[in-house]
Amino acid sequence: MARRTARFRRRGLMFVLSSPSGAGKTTISRKLLEDDDNLQLSISATTRPKRPGERDGIDYHFVDHAAFERMAQGGELLEHAVVFGNRYGTPRGPVEKALAAGRDVLFDIDWQGTQQVYSKMPDDVVRVFILPPSIEELERRLHTRAQDSDEVVAQRMAKAADEMSHYDAYDYIIVNEQVERAVVEAKAILTAERRRLKRLIGLDSFVKQLRGEG
Ligand code: 5GP
Repeated sequence: MARRTARFRRRGLMFVLSSPSGAGKTTISRKLLEDDDNLQLSISATTRPKRPGERDGIDYHFVDHAAFERMAQGGELLEHAVVFGNRYGTPRGPVEKALAAGRDVLFDIDWQGTQQVYSKMPDDVVRVFILPPSIEELERRLHTRAQDSDEVVAQRMAKAADEMSHYDAYDYIIVNEQVERAVVEAKAILTAERRRLKRLIGLDSFVKQLRGEG
């Protein structure tokens, strides 16, 4: 008769994806979320105006400056930063709840936010940086996206150079030449990180049982 074996659990991890705009991060995030039931998106608060097609509470929590400031002052944000002149921040509550329940959380945040969450929760954070294959391709992607004005595109190209200079504060680098390949690589990183010993809870008694000691 099979003996009952104690189960062990896992603490969730924080999967951070950063890249300059246009490197394909949004497409990769969407695919990861679609294919993985245990992964949820951290929905940031922002003071940036809503773009066409964006939905409040799904893409972002769109808030005014006063509300953002209240959240920041009240300790409700795990990190916050100014990006392109707008404020962005990660609500703390949903992240803590997910991690404790063994669920993983995906973050689409910039290098400043990554630094802040990493310094607060280094054991939980996995930092992935996505690079475009070339500067020409980055510019092409930004132009075909066409959601932003020419002025904003130019601004983002300038910011891309700055954002990319922070690649060395990340654990993994993905060059997004072909999006399907980039998704495979991101999934491989996630799968491997889930098996890290440090995330497993109660493994000790599980192994004891396997060794006939429990
Ligand atoms: P967008 O306005 O195009 O959605 O995002 C602009 C930049 O802000 C992106 O690089 C994105 O990763 C970053 N961002 C979005 N949400 C957050 C957040 O909560 N915190 C930080 N630090 N950056 C964020």
